[in-house]
Amino acid sequence: MARMPLLAGNWKMHKDHLEAIQLVQQIAYHLDEQDYDRSEIVVIPPFTALRSIQTLIEGDRLAIGLGAQDCYHEESGAFTGAISPVMLAKLAVRYVVCGHSERRHVFGDDDQTVNRKVRAVLSNGMRPILCVGETDEEREQGQAEEVVARHITRGLEGVAGDRADDVVIAYEPVWAIGTGKTATPSDANEMCGFARSQIADVLDGDAAGSIRVQYGGSVKPGNVAELMAQPEIDGALVGGASLQADDFAAICRYHRL
Ligand code: PEP
Repeated sequence: MARMPLLAGNWKMHKDHLEAIQLVQQIAYHLDEQDYDRSEIVVIPPFTALRSIQTLIEGDRLAIGLGAQDCYHEESGAFTGAISPVMLAKLAVRYVVCGHSERRHVFGDDDQTVNRKVRAVLSNGMRPILCVGETDEEREQGQAEEVVARHITRGLEGVAGDRADDVVIAYEPVWAIGTGKTATPSDANEMCGFARSQIADVLDGDAAGSIRVQYGGSVKPGNVAELMAQPEIDGALVGGASLQADDFAAICRYHRL
């Protein structure tokens, strides 16, 4: 089954709203119909830039999608500092990252928290990008598959099979995030394939065939084509390289490299 590649730039805690507008304009300047037809291209700025970018995308009719880096699982209430999925949906946010390793390791999001977020995102008509992946230590102890299986099983608990098409999995080995170390294309392919086999266990076989599994971890213009050539890899979640318009645009144009 053909799956539309998803290339998403996670800007993390970088770019104020003015810088964000400039970056989206620069990215858009480098891209054309061929790129948009080939892949779904998404930017994931900090919350404070969502409104500005939404306005820019709508005003200029850009074929770039909008994502958010996280959300709370409740829709409203006395939750100081939290951002509701309802608020994100109103800003035309299409994707919400759930369980990024920085959320898991810096902010203590556990599998149950991540699962609540995944379900809240889906029930508000958006698509979760569920991040899964092992640390260096876990890999060395031979636990990579066990960790990925747990992240997927617990992260997708309670998700109905008919919502499967809206779920995206990002396999991001923690040791490759922001380190310059990338999994080899064949290792990344194998782990993305393994992730897909776990989805088949939780949801169903058809769902596993249509869900997109991205690879993330030091993706850059120099390695994207080889990664994207792997049959189990349906896109990339890009951190550092998404902050440079030239680099992110080159990643989006991987099919021309
Ligand atoms: C990420 O933040 O999800 C990521 C993959 O970062 P980087 O591309 O910088 O490794």
